[in-house]
Amino acid sequence: MTREYPTWRDRFPDAATCVRCLEERDVMRLDRLLWCDECRFLARNRAAWWGWIVGLAFGACVAGYIWLILRPTDLVISGWVATVVASVWIGSKVGREIVYGAMRFRNARAVEAVPPVLPPVDGD
Ligand SMILES: [Zn+2]
Repeated sequence: MTREYPTWRDRFPDAATCVRCLEERDVMRLDRLLWCDECRFLARNRAAWWGWIVGLAFGACVAGYIWLILRPTDLVISGWVATVVASVWIGSKVGREIVYGAMRFRNARAVEAVPPVLPPVDGD
């Protein structure tokens, strides 16, 4: 059974090289940028760590704004703490997506590639 319109995968053979780890993968496990499943997982994991840094920075800005500009009273201090915690959490999610989008846009080659281990040279 043939499709009327070919997909982008039809331009590739059954196996293609992942641009991130340079391993040969089944083309069904690669996406349109030729990133394999493992490399996407690693990139999302790395973006999540950067997202927490962005979230903490955003939370510090929100805390500074609340502390210096709004000058809260002690009456509902737990509400302000919850506001800062929520801003850190939301900032981490937004930062993760922005960092992951930047990684996808930059599409750096061979980031996850591991150099092959060469056999020891005789005479050493
Ligand atoms: Zn890969």
